[in-house]
Amino acid sequence: VRVEGDYRYELGEMGSTLNYMAEEIVRSNQIKDDFISSISHELRTPLTSIKGWSETLDSGGYDPDETRIGMGIISKETERLIGLVEELLDFSKLQQNEMKLTMKRVELRELLKEIVLNVWAKAELKKVKLRVESDGDYFPVYGDANRLKQVFLNLVDNAVKFSHESSVIVLHLSIEDGWVRADVRDSGIGIDEENLNRVKDRFFQVNTQGGGTGLGLAITQQLVELHEGRLDMTSELGVGTTVSVKLPLLEGEPQPEAEPAVQP
Ligand code: ADP
Repeated sequence: VRVEGDYRYELGEMGSTLNYMAEEIVRSNQIKDDFISSISHELRTPLTSIKGWSETLDSGGYDPDETRIGMGIISKETERLIGLVEELLDFSKLQQNEMKLTMKRVELRELLKEIVLNVWAKAELKKVKLRVESDGDYFPVYGDANRLKQVFLNLVDNAVKFSHESSVIVLHLSIEDGWVRADVRDSGIGIDEENLNRVKDRFFQVNTQGGGTGLGLAITQQLVELHEGRLDMTSELGVGTTVSVKLPLLEGEPQPEAEPAVQP
């Protein structure tokens, strides 16, 4: 068969669409290969440590202090593995539309305060301060408290991870046209424009050295969307990142009840 001329030219627009599709397939295969390699690494590291410590402790002869340190490490690494497996299970549930939510009234300001307590110790290691700021007192939404907690834990966890030492992370709440808006604002390493378009893609990481699976933001965004909300990110390299979550304001809220009378 003789092909006359440049087939790409002959195929015209269809040719460039096919080229684009082929490039996308190559790219998504590469992303999946990277994912398998990073997840294997993420699983192997804690398992190696658990194996090492359990063999050491099994050989006996350790004093109570050393035994306590070993047991502590085994327990911490096991928790890390459970977290990782839960992340994979959540991701697969979301992919298959099988994530079930238990909906009730959730007060977002209270929830953010809880998050701060949860990540406080981790932030303290980097001398990072966490601050909740709000324009008002009540930010009620209708949602699954545990899943919303997961959303903000993941965002604040990322903010701490990519913050510089001694910086401040602000969790800012406001109400905007029927939405509760919660911003997680850090002044960390930031993300350049090209990568910013891709960080919410599943498996994607700007830098694979720091661990993680690249699933966190993909899961977070899908959880927000399951709550009829939306997640947006703005960032500037070297300046910092703001992730903004908007959830429908729970309308018709009764005013907060008066303080209960003091019991005699
Ligand atoms: P992982 O679970 O691996 O952290 P995520 O989906 O949560 O994956 O994040 C994907 C990537 O987005 C991270 O690896 C990081 O490169 C980038 N990223 C996320 N949040 C921030 C942030 N606050 N500042 C800078 N980079 C961030």
